[in-house]
Amino acid sequence: MASAEDLAAVLRRIDGAGYRAYKDIRGRYSFEGFTVSIDHVQGDPFAAPSRLRVFVPRQTARFPEETYRGKSRAVALASYLAGVFHGAARGNAEKRGSGKSGLIQIDRPGQEVIERTAVRVGPEEVEARFVVGLPAAGRRVLGRQAEAMLCRDLPEIVRSSLLYEANDPHGIDRAVRTNEDADHLRSALGEKGLVAFVADDAVLPRRSGVDDRPMGEGAVPFRSPDSLRVELTAPNAGVVRGMGIPEGVTLIVGGGFHGKSTLLSALELGVYNHRPGDGRERVVTDPKAIKIRAEDGRRVVGVDISPFIGELPYGRETGFFTSDNASGSTSQAANIIEAIEVGADLILVDEDTAATNFMIRDHRMQELIAKEKEPITPFVDKVRQLYEERGISSIIVAGGSGDYFDVADTVIAMEGYVPRDVTAEAKAIAERTKLERNKEGGDRFGVVVDRIPRRESIDPSRGRRDVSVKVRGVSTIQFGEETVDLSAVSQLVDSSQTRALAEAILYARSRYMDGKRSLAEIVRAVEEDVARDGLAVLSGRPVGDHAAFRPLELAAALNRLRSLSVDQKE
Ligand code: ADP
Ligand code: MG
Repeated sequence: MASAEDLAAVLRRIDGAGYRAYKDIRGRYSFEGFTVSIDHVQGDPFAAPSRLRVFVPRQTARFPEETYRGKSRAVALASYLAGVFHGAARGNAEKRGSGKSGLIQIDRPGQEVIERTAVRVGPEEVEARFVVGLPAAGRRVLGRQAEAMLCRDLPEIVRSSLLYEANDPHGIDRAVRTNEDADHLRSALGEKGLVAFVADDAVLPRRSGVDDRPMGEGAVPFRSPDSLRVELTAPNAGVVRGMGIPEGVTLIVGGGFHGKSTLLSALELGVYNHRPGDGRERVVTDPKAIKIRAEDGRRVVGVDISPFIGELPYGRETGFFTSDNASGSTSQAANIIEAIEVGADLILVDEDTAATNFMIRDHRMQELIAKEKEPITPFVDKVRQLYEERGISSIIVAGGSGDYFDVADTVIAMEGYVPRDVTAEAKAIAERTKLERNKEGGDRFGVVVDRIPRRESIDPSRGRRDVSVKVRGVSTIQFGEETVDLSAVSQLVDSSQTRALAEAILYARSRYMDGKRSLAEIVRAVEEDVARDGLAVLSGRPVGDHAAFRPLELAAALNRLRSLSVDQKE
């Protein structure tokens, strides 16, 4: 293998040459204490930066086994180290010419601790994947600058982030224990008959709508109501007390601005673990929870929404509902049916983002507009069937309508950010003011029909390129000629997840869309492959900026492809 000196020699030799000369540095180099692999060299200083990996062998990195034993710890340690590497790289960053010259960057984790490809810690070595902007003046190689970056700064960064001795052992310990505890708490929900748990003293509110770090000053810590308090046991923290939300139908009520949506958002993101200090480290939700909202304008294809929406005006059937511009209520119905199709078992709805006419239909309206003239069966009349027939629980924020009192198992009132169990009161009120309202849900929820995507309807080509797929931010995939809008998929939190999703769509298309497999089978097959072989299986090349996603989000992305066409399964 070539050495760091060899690399330095090449960089000096190509100093001043055309930018393409950088292609010569592809390959592996042995540095003092680690190996550098230059996998991809950018074509020009403005192109996507070059991709590198470093490998630090166990004898040098010296992470104690308990810092990465078991998946929970390994994911937490990798995430932690990516953060440290990121900080060290930023500390060393220097603008070294035109375009991206001088950039050294690793995919940085946010508040959620998600498995990602940036750093991997295994028994043999620590691996980090990152990008580098090879320096240029105009389009000429700045070889000496590159030498300083790769042969001086990079070793600095590696030695100050990927070695155990360079790190704060308490920080690492806390990260891995916290993550392990969260996974345990989440997996304990089922046997306790719970769908979510919010530990006492959790801090739920965020700094702002665009800053998801915890609110500092003024945050009221979570305190569970006595009647809903449960104790769970975590391997590191021991007994953890907090509010357990039981299976069934749960209503969150309370005045405006009293913290309902904040609680629901925390539950939404409780499908993920959080980094220490986030405030939501011990807020955990059923991993198959899905946030449902109205999403008018979205495309829907071939979904049987008839459990919620009957025949539309002018005889339009809803057994194979297709629209390029779904309404609030039909989009919300489709979102629910699609979620059931791929195995969601907890539905989260916030009145703030729901279609009112999908959620409720009160007595007076029933009098005025006959059932025959209203295609929509409101969610209030279906939510119990979902639970009783299919075991799908719901948590609904509804500050504006008491109609849900009749169907709720648990009613939680938020008062000044503190929850109170008002189930008995709500039930008494429901009893006292018996609604004259007719139940419109019928005897059964209705069938949920599997759909089989047609492979040829998914076309990633653009112009002369067979595959042109790009990701912009968390919620946009440029897929071939079309733009997939994922902004309503609120449990997608990280653009690295979106990049992996884009890759997964291609993978699913070429591997599993055979005209026979249903969407549910396809996303499950992808999930199994990723579980077995890691995220790398999706792209087949070493990428450093992918993060794990759930099958629910993969289905959500596929369902939002505007070109998708499907057949319903017999
Ligand atoms: P609601 O949905 O009941 O109208 P929100 O959840 O939107 O209320 O909360 C209203 C405001 O209160 C938000 O700005 C939020 O950040 C803040 N807030 C929510 N929970 C807390 C808390 N526990 N401590 C301090 N502020 C909070
Ligand atoms: Mg709200």
